[in-house]
Amino acid sequence: YVFSVSDLEISRAQIPKPVDQLAEEIGLLPEELEAYGRSKAKVRLSVLERLQSQPNGKYILVAGITPTPLGEGKSTVTVGLVQALSAHLKLNSFACLRQPSQGPTFGVKGGAAGGGYAQVIPMEEFNLHLTGDIHAITAANNLVAAAIDARMLHEATQSDKALFNRLVPSVNGVRKFSPIQISRLQRLGIRKTDPASLTPEEINAFVRLDLDPSKITWQRVVDTNDRFLRKITVGQASSEKGQIRETGFDIAVASEIMAILALADSLEDMKNRLARMVVGTSCSGQPITAEDLVCIFFLNSSHMFLALKLVGQDGFVVTEAGFGADIGMEKFFNIKCRASGLRPSVVVLVATVRALKMHGGGPNVSAGAPLPREYTDENLSLVAGGCCSNLKKQIQIAHLFGVPVVVAVNVFKTDTQAEIDLVCQIAKDCGASDALPCNHWAQGGRGSSELAQAVKEAASKPSDFQFLYNTEMPIVEKIRTIAQRVYGADDIELSPEAKSKTDYYHQQGYGSLPICMAKTHLSLSHMPDKKGAPTGFVLPIRDVRASIGAGFIYPLVGTMSTMPGLPTRPCFYDIDLDPVTEEITGLF
Ligand code: ADP
Repeated sequence: YVFSVSDLEISRAQIPKPVDQLAEEIGLLPEELEAYGRSKAKVRLSVLERLQSQPNGKYILVAGITPTPLGEGKSTVTVGLVQALSAHLKLNSFACLRQPSQGPTFGVKGGAAGGGYAQVIPMEEFNLHLTGDIHAITAANNLVAAAIDARMLHEATQSDKALFNRLVPSVNGVRKFSPIQISRLQRLGIRKTDPASLTPEEINAFVRLDLDPSKITWQRVVDTNDRFLRKITVGQASSEKGQIRETGFDIAVASEIMAILALADSLEDMKNRLARMVVGTSCSGQPITAEDLVCIFFLNSSHMFLALKLVGQDGFVVTEAGFGADIGMEKFFNIKCRASGLRPSVVVLVATVRALKMHGGGPNVSAGAPLPREYTDENLSLVAGGCCSNLKKQIQIAHLFGVPVVVAVNVFKTDTQAEIDLVCQIAKDCGASDALPCNHWAQGGRGSSELAQAVKEAASKPSDFQFLYNTEMPIVEKIRTIAQRVYGADDIELSPEAKSKTDYYHQQGYGSLPICMAKTHLSLSHMPDKKGAPTGFVLPIRDVRASIGAGFIYPLVGTMSTMPGLPTRPCFYDIDLDPVTEEITGLF
């Protein structure tokens, strides 16, 4: 096998099948396809109606052990498994992957198209812009932010009457409320539809959102690791008349709109969720929503449902939950499966010898630096240490949800047979249905055919899926359940701010939403340098935020940030444009 070829060279050596031909092969009608060039397309949701009576295929989730900062190959396993299921087991199967964020692509980790002979092609298009959805999310998110600041300025500088006349303009001498304005009036308890009939008090309530500038939770977003935007001051030009406030940016994929895109199951559901997004609190303590700002827009929806119908009853849909199973899989099950009603058949837990050695006590691994000798030479005791701590714990976490686990050991060229055998043996001793080495990175689908067979067998057994908590439990109890049962914490400790926000969410009726923990992915605990399966710690909850539209409460654990930074030598140092071949170089 050729190990010296880059991912980009492998991608370029393939000629992608024209997307219309591919669409025909998977059973789509020409009118259901919206092509973006020759190799990319969007699929219309009308397919769901056409295939309504078709039973769903099997739903497979690829999760991982706690990774090194380099990533352990969940995307490559996802792609390799689907290559093996379709090409070697001749089963209909789809991989559902999310477009990579440009933050990691240009930052530390590189792209997320898989790698080696198990990757999405054309990889540069997939990694860089795809169909532009992240840009659309950025634009929609920032429209809401602009609407918030503009509205505060207008409220600060205009009378009730002037605001009313502009918000409800007279057309041919007649003022009419829009449907969205009528909905706001109803929420204010005003059951009138004729603008002329409003009393001055009602006009005041209608025109003034009266946002408390210190309680605006909506941030601007950009798809770049730009740490200097974590805290900014806006409104400093004299035209903004002193409406200066502190705010900040998040990475675009942390936008609530991104979460809505992933969770909505129809355009109507998406529109309702977008309308419910809470952007801040009024001075009297009432939540203010995107609907109050009249910001509702259309985006494209998730493809998981489509794929499950298209593959048919005997087919497979493989998708990936980011980071370790404690983070990605827990949220995927408790939030996404709850919202979609879809039930997973099998968890494929990706492990690497290098990450297991790190958990067993090996030295730190960092991007760009050569791997220490412990990682390139055989070291069975470090491997065993990692298996009996992190791997064991992550298998147990998947079993909390009642789903069978197949462990996929993503083989690197420095791994020895004895190390791989040891991982497989311990994984099975810890209750995995099966554990196998995979060589998809070097061999494509052929390298994952045994994994595909094991997944097929595990999926044929009944899965006993269950959620970890009942959403009716108080917010703090739900957080504690995740901290203790998933992370292994003794308890949780809420900051005063987190405590008062939790009380506020209960008062506003948001107490029964599921929880989306924002915790480091580099440890089961909140401390990135604590590897293995740490115990004896109390999980600090610094803040608790709410994404009401998407439908979850998200606690910020420890020092977790929603805007990553760039390292001293980011990936973009190696990315270039070759003017002769007109190709992008240096992506990985
Ligand atoms: P994850 O999805 O878990 O974050 P990726 O699948 O994106 O991880 O893989 C991380 C990086 O490691 C990618 O650059 C990928 O090409 C590389 N990689 C994955 N598996 C292997 C392997 N078996 N050998 C060498 N490199 C690999």
